Amino acid sequence: MSSCTCHHHHEAERGTRWVCLITLVTMATEILAGWLFGSMALMADGWHMAGHAGAMGVAWFAYVYMRTHRGDRRFVFGPGKINALAGFVSALGLGLVSVFMIVESAHRLVAPTSIAFTEAMVVAVLGLVVNIASAWLLRDREHASHDTDQNLRAAYLHVLADALTSVLAIAALAGGKFWGLTRLDPIMGVVGAVVVGKWAIALTRDTAAILLDMRAPEHVSATVRQRLESTGASIRDLALWYVGPQEMAASVCLAAPTAAPPETYTDIVRAVPEVAFVRVEVHNLPCPGEKDHDH
Ligand SMILES: [Zn+2]
Ligand SMILES: [Zn+2]
Ligand SMILES: [Zn+2]
Repeated sequence: MSSCTCHHHHEAERGTRWVCLITLVTMATEILAGWLFGSMALMADGWHMAGHAGAMGVAWFAYVYMRTHRGDRRFVFGPGKINALAGFVSALGLGLVSVFMIVESAHRLVAPTSIAFTEAMVVAVLGLVVNIASAWLLRDREHASHDTDQNLRAAYLHVLADALTSVLAIAALAGGKFWGLTRLDPIMGVVGAVVVGKWAIALTRDTAAILLDMRAPEHVSATVRQRLESTGASIRDLALWYVGPQEMAASVCLAAPTAAPPETYTDIVRAVPEVAFVRVEVHNLPCPGEKDHDH
């Protein structure tokens, strides 16, 4: 849930801040209660929420860091990658939690321990109520008519999915309390931990790609290529990569038919909204090291 990135929206921002606070309290309660009452399903639900609190914390920290370090000349491509770095670290933490939860749940599946079903259920219901309250706070009220806020919508849908996992955790506890199906709880513990684990893996992969300067998806470079080629220039090498959440750097090597100043091309590339940093080399000969390539 990346709802904390919508800082331009005051309404959304106020709603998000409340969700952050409520999530934090509920998550701590669920983890602690899960441990004390012996319920892995409840604990997994709590760690899932902790993942959201972590994501919101990362978004908030990155936002503050980027704002206070904007224009800091020591960062060649700006401080935007702090977002990926903080995300990568939190993903590692989330991955470790997931492994611990899977091992612990598997252990309890083999050697069941006693579970305080009633107490665990009370806390799990509280968790569900919080999920529904979050959905209500993030609901798309005045947005129905004008712009669709993608972040808000994604967050809303995710909260609904989370409510479903909370319902399953409650069902597992009810099964244990009323029908003696004590293994449902550690099974839900494994399910919850796998969800968190998959999330951690995806987050690790996404943030690592940004940290390692992997090329950004093709559509922006296609736009850059098209705009440059419309001037009659032929592109020898073009690379775009993320330097921040929505910012890219572009490195272009091109051969120009006329002796236009390099700034002409720099301005063309900079006009693409996603591009924040541009480096253009204009040659009338093949670029160094480019002779062997077939561009
Ligand atoms: Zn925020
Ligand atoms: Zn709006
Ligand atoms: Zn979730």
